[in-house]
Amino acid sequence: MSSKQLEQFLTENLEDLKGKGLYNVIDPLQSANGPMITINGKSLINLSSNNYLGLATDSRLKKAAAEAVERYGVGAGAVRTINGTLDIHLELEEKLAKFKQTEAAIAYQSGFNCNMAAISAVMDKNDAILSDELNHASIIDGCRLSRAKIIRFNHSDMKDLRAKAKEAKESGQYNKIMVITDGVFSMDGDIAKLPEIVEIAEEFDLITYVDDAHGSGVLGKGAGTVKHFGLSDRIDFQIGTLSKAIGVVGGYVAGKRDLIDWLKVRSRPFLFSTALTPADVAASIKAIELLTASSELNERLWDNADYLKEGLQKLGFDIGNSETPITPCIIGDEVKTQEFSKRLNEKGVYAKSIVFPTVPKGTGRVRNMPSAAHTKAMLDEALAIYETVGKEMGVIQ
Ligand code: PMP
Repeated sequence: MSSKQLEQFLTENLEDLKGKGLYNVIDPLQSANGPMITINGKSLINLSSNNYLGLATDSRLKKAAAEAVERYGVGAGAVRTINGTLDIHLELEEKLAKFKQTEAAIAYQSGFNCNMAAISAVMDKNDAILSDELNHASIIDGCRLSRAKIIRFNHSDMKDLRAKAKEAKESGQYNKIMVITDGVFSMDGDIAKLPEIVEIAEEFDLITYVDDAHGSGVLGKGAGTVKHFGLSDRIDFQIGTLSKAIGVVGGYVAGKRDLIDWLKVRSRPFLFSTALTPADVAASIKAIELLTASSELNERLWDNADYLKEGLQKLGFDIGNSETPITPCIIGDEVKTQEFSKRLNEKGVYAKSIVFPTVPKGTGRVRNMPSAAHTKAMLDEALAIYETVGKEMGVIQ
């Protein structure tokens, strides 16, 4: 029997969330998470997955994963530093370093885990972290875990960043100061101003940390946001995830060899959590090989993204400041946004609504994630459904 305190806490808080419409209802998929998905027996055009290049269902990755299971089994059997490091973990890390044009890389069990690991391995209570106000939850938690002073700067506001960097530096209060940002922001699809961030970092001797979860496989012909701006040798930490464009699961840091060596002896998820499974590692290696050998999937992704964006804009929808395939369709009011997403779903499009408090009040949006795996026919159908729902609800004329 659970304690009365716990029961009361859960009942009150669950009711509160449900009352505010913030209780997540999860729709299980009865299919793979490809361009079309099946939910409740119904086939839907999927515009909600991070599977940017369609690799999550690619037959070459499946084959690599199956072969790895045959050879190494389903689990790594231990943490990396005991005897959970397989030869393919090291191969993956070498390939990641080449892919990111850095000296070395280290893999973790997820992107979330990676931010928890890397920030707190380097920063401590005598340090400060300048963090974009729209950074991902895992960055925020990683910063908190480090116990460094967190100084938030206004989203992509370089004047604010510079002023706060100057103040932190001149205060003489901190041993180390880091600036940390997403490469691509996942709610609006805008790109961090990395060239300016690097200039400010060099002026004030800041450590630079870029979480490129949504830029890898997407920008810089696939190599990511840092490569897109030609800054590979001027960023200390390049974080990526294996769960989005790579199509599998896992996370990594790419950087100088000393940094990676330090993370291997000091980052806690590497030391205390079981290594990535053989199937994940082998499939990720195959994905990176494919991305390195050809930019075809990347080009198809951009072609589809441009097609969807142009189509939505022509219909009169507001797609905000997106510079990447992440395409918000801004509806505004929270209740209306949720109703919009529900009606899309009823007519055959799966695109999630994102509302306050995830995004500012009054900027509710339906977020679309086109991929390389969508056909033009799927996108045309999605646009036709957007047009019908948009007119029905008075969002477009
Ligand atoms: N960083 C960013 C910017 C992300 O968007 C995400 C995924 N939502 C993560 C980290 C976490 O990555 P993963 O899903 O691999 O844990």
